[in-house]
Amino acid sequence: MYVVIKKNSDLGKIQLLKQRIEQMDCKVVEISDREQIKIGIFTKNIQEIVSKLRKEEIIEKIVQIDSPFRFSSKEFKESETIIEVKGRKIGAGNLVVIGGPCSIESREMIFDIAKTVKEVGGEFLRGGAFKPRTSPYDFQGLGEIGLKYMREACDRYELVMVTEVMDTKDIELVGKYTDIFQVGARNMQNFSLLKELGKVKKPVLLKRGLSATLKEFLMAAEYIVAHGNYEVILCERGIRTFESATRNTVDINGIAYLKSKTHFPIIIDASHGTGIRELVEPVTLGALLAGADGAMLEVHKNPECAYSDREQTLNYEQFRQCVEKIKKTMEFKESLKCI
Ligand code: PEP
Ligand code: MN
Repeated sequence: MYVVIKKNSDLGKIQLLKQRIEQMDCKVVEISDREQIKIGIFTKNIQEIVSKLRKEEIIEKIVQIDSPFRFSSKEFKESETIIEVKGRKIGAGNLVVIGGPCSIESREMIFDIAKTVKEVGGEFLRGGAFKPRTSPYDFQGLGEIGLKYMREACDRYELVMVTEVMDTKDIELVGKYTDIFQVGARNMQNFSLLKELGKVKKPVLLKRGLSATLKEFLMAAEYIVAHGNYEVILCERGIRTFESATRNTVDINGIAYLKSKTHFPIIIDASHGTGIRELVEPVTLGALLAGADGAMLEVHKNPECAYSDREQTLNYEQFRQCVEKIKKTMEFKESLKCI
């Protein structure tokens, strides 16, 4: 449920109202949406709270949300959420390119990739230090030393760091280094992890599970929100279908659907979505036109030697070309709004 505050209400009164609601054992979130101030209220005792709030003079209306993914829904917030990290904006038409290797392999390697990402105009660096690998015998990531190298590279090239956290026990450690936490596809329904990430003060990039429905995906986002973190970025990374020619199948329907149902930004990861380097660019561009707000791309100086995900990783020249086309596609998308 949420309440809409009357226009031109005194800010002090709004603060006092929030405090009163919190004292009723509710969690609250204040947002502005199309020039309205709304206070989202998380409670199990809806009827009791509604009757108490009816007496509040600065409340214009009280609205109960029908959507199961309440605070992630457009019913709660119509306008697109823009998440700001270190001056960079994610969402609502801002160009977002998150480039980097699948795994951080060495200090030299991550510095070189960071330099390339910066040169082509990407503002976000991705790379895994804790890797969810199908085989326990495959490279599992460098762990903390990898995070350290990546942090240094981000500081050197003024990039925003995005890296995966796989376990609740690592949140503090990963949080010491990263700007954005990534939740991998295999952890999309790790509810303990989602709840704990609800308590952190950094954005969470949530990847869609391998076989997750769109509703399950949005409900996973809602877990993070319901525990206090409203900075969620959704990432479509392809799902398992009967098709085996590609590693996964990017759900273009899903992107358009999410765009119509949620206010959170959506990122396309066509590297994992296709698993085939030649397909990454066209599928990325298609997904942007379907509604994605930005792209995640795996890139490596020498993809054939990458420790993980070689077949889907772009080389520097392919990456540069892809980013150029992403920029043009975003401009084209903007121009469509005027038609
Ligand atoms: C990754 O981003 O490196 C990764 C492991 O992705 P996913 O969780 O989507 O498989
Ligand atoms: Mn990968």
